[in-house]
Amino acid sequence: MKKRTFLKISATFGAGVVVAPSLVSCNEEASNDTDATGEAAAATLLSFELPKLPYPYDALVAAVDEETMTIHHQKHHQGYVNKLNKAIQETKTEASSLEDLLAKTDLPEAIRNNGGGHFNHSLFWEILAPDPVQPSKTMDGLLSKDFGSVEGFKKSFTEAAGGVFGSGWAWLCLGDDEQLFITTTPNQDNPLMSVAEKQGKPLMGIDVWEHAYYLRYQNERGQYLQKILERINWEAVENNLG
Ligand code: MN
Repeated sequence: MKKRTFLKISATFGAGVVVAPSLVSCNEEASNDTDATGEAAAATLLSFELPKLPYPYDALVAAVDEETMTIHHQKHHQGYVNKLNKAIQETKTEASSLEDLLAKTDLPEAIRNNGGGHFNHSLFWEILAPDPVQPSKTMDGLLSKDFGSVEGFKKSFTEAAGGVFGSGWAWLCLGDDEQLFITTTPNQDNPLMSVAEKQGKPLMGIDVWEHAYYLRYQNERGQYLQKILERINWEAVENNLG
């Protein structure tokens, strides 16, 4: 899977958004995708598939063990995909893309939870790497502008992620004002959703549900965060700037 093709999120939430097929794994025919002129896809009942991991299950063993990765991908993420497809059919909720779906107001709860679960995990797998990719000059500059330095960003991000009560996610996002910001969401919510405390374009999301780390780290979320932040693919994060 090419990194650049993985995840493109439009800066315009809810309108004319385009995502690469590898993220949405959409079963609809090509006629429902963005056409050659770049016009937005028609709203329809979407169906999704579990994306393949971009590396083997044991590839992140320096941060996350093989068993956790396998269960997380094959059981948890697959479960979100299955329940999302069911909920779309049951509620007849039409959308032109996963992002379009998640940005809707009054989202049915099952779509909020499972659509968020699908989006969040798809992004999570992609911004991790067995061999971490350091921030480019551009990315380093952006992080330094808004957080003082790359290390300053990691410190603030770790504090935010460590402060999530119960299950949730920590995010690095791009705001409408072109500033990077850190935010957190409970459960499987994400910053694309109207319920988010602060909306923005997710560049990087770290799962802080216990299922993401409990087998190795038990209650030590801070240790997990330290290790996982050493396995970031900053090229993939930067590509999500669009
Ligand atoms: Mn998870």
